[in-house]
Amino acid sequence: MKELVIIGAGASGMMAGIMASRQGARVTVLETNERPGRKLAATGNGRCNFTNVRMDPGAYRGTDPSFAWKVLERFSVSDTLRFFTELGIYSENKEGRMYPRSMQAQSLVDVMRMELQALGAKLKTRERVTAIVPGRKPRFTVHTEGWHYPADAVILACGSCASQIAGSTRDGYELAKKLGHRIVPPLPALTGLVCEGLPFSRWAGVRQAGRITLLIDEEPCFDDSGELQLTEYGISGIPAFNVSRYAARALKDGKQVCAVLDFFPEFTIEGLRSFLQTLRQHTPYKTDRQLLTGLFPEKLADLLIRQQDWLLAIKQLPLSVKGVLSFSHAQVCSGGVMTSELDPASMESLLCPGLYFCGELVDIDGLCGGYNLQWAWSSGALAGLAQKDHSAS
Ligand SMILES: Cc1cc2nc3c(=O)[nH]c(=O)nc-3n(C[C@H](O)[C@H](O)[C@H](O)COP(=O)(O)OP(=O)(O)OC[C@H]3O[C@@H](n4cnc5c(N)ncnc54)[C@H](O)[C@@H]3O)c2cc1C
Repeated sequence: MKELVIIGAGASGMMAGIMASRQGARVTVLETNERPGRKLAATGNGRCNFTNVRMDPGAYRGTDPSFAWKVLERFSVSDTLRFFTELGIYSENKEGRMYPRSMQAQSLVDVMRMELQALGAKLKTRERVTAIVPGRKPRFTVHTEGWHYPADAVILACGSCASQIAGSTRDGYELAKKLGHRIVPPLPALTGLVCEGLPFSRWAGVRQAGRITLLIDEEPCFDDSGELQLTEYGISGIPAFNVSRYAARALKDGKQVCAVLDFFPEFTIEGLRSFLQTLRQHTPYKTDRQLLTGLFPEKLADLLIRQQDWLLAIKQLPLSVKGVLSFSHAQVCSGGVMTSELDPASMESLLCPGLYFCGELVDIDGLCGGYNLQWAWSSGALAGLAQKDHSAS
């Protein structure tokens, strides 16, 4: 029987453990925390947006984003929905974003833990892996702080260093490096943009629909629309999160980054001008500031009206981006184990046979909206399915 050790009982590690057990492998999952799935239990504000039925390759980023699609084609969103339905997760669709009907992320942790137990997989908590030593027989010895485990195969599912949740470590990168893998330096992603150029305390707390366009060295690079959350440090909210990985990478490379905000994407600038002219004709007694009442929250209107060309500022407010929030405030990391050194059919290392990777530890990150967990499910499932012991049949 194939002896498999999985490092990390998060989303991807538990998925890998279930699939590998179903293939007949003898599975041990080692988890540094006192319980499995702590990050998974915190996802989607505790409700867990576990996948998205509006799937397209553009939702993934990395040095080679097409790698993600090769994996998702092999274990798809439908496969994921079927998997969770069979475990008892009835899902609810909110504009493509899928949630468990219980609206409790812990439900996913619980059903996966129950399935692992029913399949006879061992889950050992408070077991932090410190080293993986390759050999001949056994092929690997996995060392924790107090024990060691022989293994025919190892799946590294340690996640990333994003968030303040316990277990968000750099261990996976270090273990992978020691086994010869190259790492794209991890940087915070899905996080807020720290900006300069306005007295931001005046707009803190405002939420306003709009568009954000990121310019890198003055070239438009990525844009996204949705609810912008204006904060004392700059901009947050899903559109800011979705562009932040590009901002972080560009700033690291010493490039200039600018976020241009459009607070009225429904109109062109000419359209907005003529709309305001009509409004002025209907209400000639209004000052310029009063014209903005009803269009924007007060704090935002007060700030926009102070700009030299306030009409242009509504459509194109440029803010210099000086940084992104730290790892502890980020939902995921960009960067990780280089995908050029992995087989997308099995997530096996091309450098070290018998070693597999999955989840956020790999150099793939997704947009907000269930895409990161889908990556964890798909990559974890392939790593687990690859554990079928062909020599036994
Ligand atoms: C606040 C928040 C909200 C989020 N919401 C969503 C959402 O709604 N939808 C979505 O798609 N994505 C969401 N994400 C992202 C998503 O949670 C991650 O992408 C996903 O959990 C990654 O799965 P993983 O298995 O790679 O890593 P993890 O789930 O982080 O699991 C890794 C596990 O490895 C363990 N570990 C680490 N080092 C060691 C070691 N040395 N030895 C043993 N164990 C170790 C950790 O303790 C952890 O349990 C959110 C993230 C955060 C922080």
